[in-house]
Amino acid sequence: MESYFGAVEAGGTKFRCGIGSSDGTWFTETRIETRTPKETLAEVVDFFASAGSRVSAVGVGSFGPLDLDPDSKTFEQITTTPKPGWSGADIPGALRAALKVPVMMDTDVNAAALGEHRWGAGQGLDVLLYLTIGTGIGGGLVVDGRPVHGLVHPEMGHVRVPVTAAGEFPGVCPYHGNCFEGLASGPAMAARWGRPAETLPEDHPGWGAEAEIIAAALHGFVATVSPQRIILGGGIMHHRGLLDAIRQRLQDSLNGYVRSPVLLERIEEYLVSPALGDRAGLAGGLVLAAAARR
Ligand code: ZN
Repeated sequence: MESYFGAVEAGGTKFRCGIGSSDGTWFTETRIETRTPKETLAEVVDFFASAGSRVSAVGVGSFGPLDLDPDSKTFEQITTTPKPGWSGADIPGALRAALKVPVMMDTDVNAAALGEHRWGAGQGLDVLLYLTIGTGIGGGLVVDGRPVHGLVHPEMGHVRVPVTAAGEFPGVCPYHGNCFEGLASGPAMAARWGRPAETLPEDHPGWGAEAEIIAAALHGFVATVSPQRIILGGGIMHHRGLLDAIRQRLQDSLNGYVRSPVLLERIEEYLVSPALGDRAGLAGGLVLAAAARR
């Protein structure tokens, strides 16, 4: 019997689950509302169990922060989330216990980066950065086909950015105020401009400020990890014209210092949208499941 992989994209409002094969073919999927860990994970288990014994491994991309240190007592648990009930939740542990298959977990953004690296806009690249800019901001970095972990995992949404574009706005990050996420996430834009970001008119100054803040953060990432391409996903990036505005501002900010033709002459190939759209994370789940099997 052919063996299938399970993929989970665990989010704060919903869990997306899919069953597919290692070549990226999908057979079935579902969405489960995020409630308590017990209720939600029971539904996730039921979904995979319904495929009988054919699911041979599961990959999970999860909201976090996550403890990904194998030597830690709280390995694979969600750590400091403000989401009620989810601090200390052990998604892989629950799935392993119920399904008796290997499970591998990573951050939602690392999973999305893996999905784009395998099937999307980052194929064949040695150093790929994926950023999501939406309700929160996060970055996943894939180097030589593997997501980067270190002390914990990268927290690119929480880098400091110059606040010249922020005016008097103090930011909304509960930990840092005016870090990148505190200034440029959807909730930050809503707090700063007094209305949801998606209702701001195209000529609203908020979009220029947004492009400037994002470009400032990208300048830092280009200078530190030298990604060969940067993929920008997330709800905020759906705004028409924002991607072009960021491209222009990133070139202005780097000011010709980083000498690469793709940056200097073909920036539309350097800063790109996800090729898999909002399916990148789920696709990454398949990549993680395949890795769990090895
Ligand atoms: Zn922060």
